[in-house]
Amino acid sequence: MLVPGVEPAQWPRARALAGGAITLRFAAGIHPRHAGSIEALEAHVARARVHAIGELGWDRAAPFDDALVDAQLALARAAALPVILHVVGAHGHALERLRRHPPLAGVVHAFSGSAELVREYVRRGLAISIGPSVLGAGARRVHAAARAVPDEALLVETDAPDGIAEPADVARVVAQVAHLRGREPSAIAALTHANAARLFG
Ligand SMILES: [Zn+2]
Repeated sequence: MLVPGVEPAQWPRARALAGGAITLRFAAGIHPRHAGSIEALEAHVARARVHAIGELGWDRAAPFDDALVDAQLALARAAALPVILHVVGAHGHALERLRRHPPLAGVVHAFSGSAELVREYVRRGLAISIGPSVLGAGARRVHAAARAVPDEALLVETDAPDGIAEPADVARVVAQVAHLRGREPSAIAALTHANAARLFG
C-alpha cells in the first residue's frame, strides 16, 4: 500500500503508520491544495526513503502553480522516482504541461476523466488509478475510463480519507472494476498488485 504525505507536516506523520501487517510504501509531495517549499521536499527526499513524489499536480479549486509542479517533476527525475499526479478539472492543462517534460513514470490517481483522456495519459507512459468514484451507479464517465485502461496501466485505490473511509474498502473498488471489465476480482487484485509493485518498487 502506498501512502502519500501531501504537505510538509504529513511527510513524517505518514511514516508513523509503518509497522503493521501490511507493507507500506511512502510518497512525499506538495499537493495543489496545500503549501510547501520545494527546498523542504528536496531535503526530506534526501534523508527519508520514499518510493514516489506526490501528490502533485493541478486542481481547479486552487491556483495552478506550474513552477512548483515542474520543480517536483524535476526532483522525481533526478531521484529516479515515479510521481503521483493529482489532476482535478485540469486535464487539458495537465497534458499541455506534461508535454514539456520527458516521459516519466507515475500514476494519475483517483482518475475522474474520460476514456479518451485515459488514452492520452497512457500514451505518455502513465498508469491510471481508479478510486471510489467508480462505485457510483451513475458514474458513467468513470465506468468508461475504468474499462479503457490497458491491463498493464491499471491501479486501484481508496483515496482515503478523501474517498471512502478506510484502506480495506479497496476491495469494493476492485470488485467494481472487475465487474466493469468482465473479470474475476481475484484477477484484478493480482494484476493491480503486480502493476503497483513494478511502478513503486
Ligand atoms: Zn489527490
